[in-house]
Amino acid sequence: MHFSGRTWRPSYEADSCIIQLTSGCTWQRCHFCSLYAEEPFRVSPLAEFEQDLGEIKAYQPYARRLFLTGANPFALSYERLRPYILTVRDYLIKCQTMAMFASIRDIRDKEVWQLKKLRAMGINGLSIGTESGDDETLALAGKGYTAADIAEQCGKLDEAGIEYYFVYMTGLAGKGRGYWNAVNSAKLFSRLNPYFISVDSLTLFPDTELCRMEREGRFTPAGEKVLKFSTGTSDAMDRLKQELELISGEVCGTLRAGYSLSYGTYRLAGQLAEYYRNYPKVNLQIIMDQSGQLYQQMLDGTLDIAIIRGEYSWEGGRYLLAEERVYMVCSIENEDRKLQEYPYISRKADPYLSGQLLRWIREQGISTESSKICVDNITTCEELVGSGVGWSILPEIALENFTGVKKPLSFKNGDPFIRRTYVFCQRETLRLPQVDAFIKVLRKMHT
Ligand code: SF4
Repeated sequence: MHFSGRTWRPSYEADSCIIQLTSGCTWQRCHFCSLYAEEPFRVSPLAEFEQDLGEIKAYQPYARRLFLTGANPFALSYERLRPYILTVRDYLIKCQTMAMFASIRDIRDKEVWQLKKLRAMGINGLSIGTESGDDETLALAGKGYTAADIAEQCGKLDEAGIEYYFVYMTGLAGKGRGYWNAVNSAKLFSRLNPYFISVDSLTLFPDTELCRMEREGRFTPAGEKVLKFSTGTSDAMDRLKQELELISGEVCGTLRAGYSLSYGTYRLAGQLAEYYRNYPKVNLQIIMDQSGQLYQQMLDGTLDIAIIRGEYSWEGGRYLLAEERVYMVCSIENEDRKLQEYPYISRKADPYLSGQLLRWIREQGISTESSKICVDNITTCEELVGSGVGWSILPEIALENFTGVKKPLSFKNGDPFIRRTYVFCQRETLRLPQVDAFIKVLRKMHT
């Protein structure tokens, strides 16, 4: 038998004969996975595949099910899969079904009629590592598809009568997001017809993007309870002090506030100046960071209040501060060029926005391969676009002084592409005068 690289099958395929159709993975971009990092994608030549079928026949002439190995043999087009599948019964006359790993991306480029034919040829049993059904988690994991894609592609499998199995990965959403990952996944999966759902849990492997994110503080695995406990005592002291100040009736004490990077870049100075003018006795502790990080700090209780962009579930106080359109922007000289013809300038974004950007780009049929430039902040992005280097997608807040071309974006279903900014507050700090005063300043400056 020919097996190269890592060969494995799910435990529920233990009774199936295994044969290598591909090795390696066509995607290799999942942020938690380094399984095939050193292994280029390879398709077994048909002659090699036939040789292996002959060997199986010698030992298991009445094999009824085959498992085709490789991370995603289903990535092969209908035309490429066909000869392999048709050859199986030349050797194994009793073989009824063939199973394999597949990705949602692999189903996308197959028509329903092609799936029906593959089903008729014996393909039945796709193990799909969906990992989640929650858009934020899918984007964080770098899966390259959304919950809507899962629904659409599995709908095609249902129509073709192909059986499929899901994998759900616990812990992938990071600390504090597990509940919503579970709820959103359950909602999606129960609309579909997976034959079963197996569950595994996240391991942070050292050479993965998620592990790098963890080292840089951009991802926190669940379970950092000890740290929380050790900071709890000093937090309690702070709260007591603030309660005493509350009794005195004066606006003072400490305000720990977080500003999202994009929002803070344009609004922080004016708002803090106004606040400080009115409440000079308040000790202001301000940080600017990505929205995802601020959200994490709100969950940890290390911030009293945060201005966060994007959609995050929250059980404390939350107010909508601003809602703005998102635009495709380019320089005037690039106005008539097709977007595929010149670089897309991407920037670091939180998982929710990444998902929205991916959705719009995909709906336009633009290959993300054309993304040649990635910058880490919104102002550099706007400057590069203005100088004609490429095009980008930016929210209104970044375009107040932009002199190039800007076109408001909508999704295919007609929904406008919008970006919302919220004020998140801890429930227990809401009645503190310095927090209340801060919210009033924010609201006043937005009316
Ligand atoms: S999880 Fe699967 S699809 Fe993602 S990189 Fe690893 S092998 Fe490829």
